[in-house]
Amino acid sequence: MSDKNYSFFGAVERSFDKAAKFTKWDSGLLNQIRQCNSVLQLRFPIKRDNGEIEVIEAYRVQHSHHKTPCKGGIRFAAEVNQDEVMALAALMTYKCTIVNVPFGGGKGGIKIDPKKYSVGELERITRRYTSELIKKNFIGPGIDVPAPDYGTGEREMSWVLDTYVSMRPGEVDAAGCVTGKPITQGGVRGRREATGLGVFYGTREVCNIPDIMSKLGLSIGIENKRVIVQGLGNVGYWAAHFFQHAGAKVIALAEYEGAIFDEYGLDIEAVFQHRKKTGSILNFPGAKDIKNSNEALELECDILIPAALENVINGENAPRIKAKIIGEGANGPLTPEADDYFAKNGTIVIPDMYLNAGGVTVSYFEWLKNLSHVRYGRMEKRFTENVNSSILNQIEELTGKKSNAQARELIMHGPDEVALVYSGLEETMINATHEIMKVWKENPAIPDMRTAAYVVAINKVATIYAELGIFP
Ligand code: NAD
Repeated sequence: MSDKNYSFFGAVERSFDKAAKFTKWDSGLLNQIRQCNSVLQLRFPIKRDNGEIEVIEAYRVQHSHHKTPCKGGIRFAAEVNQDEVMALAALMTYKCTIVNVPFGGGKGGIKIDPKKYSVGELERITRRYTSELIKKNFIGPGIDVPAPDYGTGEREMSWVLDTYVSMRPGEVDAAGCVTGKPITQGGVRGRREATGLGVFYGTREVCNIPDIMSKLGLSIGIENKRVIVQGLGNVGYWAAHFFQHAGAKVIALAEYEGAIFDEYGLDIEAVFQHRKKTGSILNFPGAKDIKNSNEALELECDILIPAALENVINGENAPRIKAKIIGEGANGPLTPEADDYFAKNGTIVIPDMYLNAGGVTVSYFEWLKNLSHVRYGRMEKRFTENVNSSILNQIEELTGKKSNAQARELIMHGPDEVALVYSGLEETMINATHEIMKVWKENPAIPDMRTAAYVVAINKVATIYAELGIFP
């Protein structure tokens, strides 16, 4: 099956249209939802370390203003283009809606390969990009709030914040202009691992649904499932980490330089340290090297997590994929042709716009923390521990039995920030899974989980417009 020449945004539109048929909304309203509301194209100069001037191509897209601020990561990659940023911004609208995070979708992109720039050059690019966004009113805690994405992380977000604060002195909520910041600068505990953890929670919830698992011929739960992860970056590393710690076997890991395989399961932290030390995932002790990284996607397994880039599974390689469940850690890793193939052969594809929403969910928690200017758990942790202690003491007194130190610790423990963030994310992912599955179950003509997720998203955004009276 060959892939039609869709652009990435075209593929998102195609998925949207496929789902729109299962909704009751008129075409004008649907068209308003699918278009990008604002597209900012930027070209600005930076001075390279060798003194040369380079003109940088960059974008910020606000897909939907049905809720503000807009929200979405900033990507640094050589492949960045307007169409890609538009597609990613659109996915953010649907993603935020599905996990009930009150933002419109946005996305930023800078067309550079970050590996080819020094830290100083990256800082100059990030700061100049931020000041361009400020000049155009495309950033601010109530306007548009970027976050990390492919090729960016806490370091870049702290440059964004520092630039914003220096150009908007005295703005009390300034820390809420960007998320994914270091903890010391208003970041929230748990944000770093949030997307990977959300990928894990979402996949686990699907694996807990008896109907789905019996159709796939798999046992319920995550334990002993064979998992393959592509991309050992922020999303892939943490997803693999949580799968391993829940008792799954991560049998293969694929990076751009190659892949490694171990049927008994790889130790993720050890692989990560090996790659850090040697510069390559290959030659990991005890594992088999696979020189062509893409071949790893085609190995026998239960769960495949593509967590690198888009379009890696397409009409050409889809028939060779043996995974029973594909969890989209990355944005857009499957083309529409791959989707059609898996819908027919019964493979469950857990779609990006829901599965990798952990990042934006915890970004929402970070933004709330910034606006409230207080750490989660600060007010209630000690109070809860005191109440729990009194209850436990009473029970021990009445029963005459003492609980052991471990049980005591567990019962007394008051909620700290990371525990609250994890539980908020777990609740969000579980609820979103069941909301999507309910729509799918109620309408068996819906071909796949992605279409069901789009139906959920379209209905929620459309209801807002309808209630506003814009579209009676
Ligand atoms: P990252 O830069 O931290 O990691 C990406 C990893 O993929 C890198 O280690 C890179 O070497 C690897 N890679 C690149 N090309 C590859 C190839 N051909 N084969 C195998 N590995 C390859 O990026 P990230 O933040 O983990 O983002 C990955 C994907 O997840 C992107 O699609 C991004 O849009 C999406 N995403 C990220 C977040 C987030 O919070 N970081 C949230 C939602 C979605």
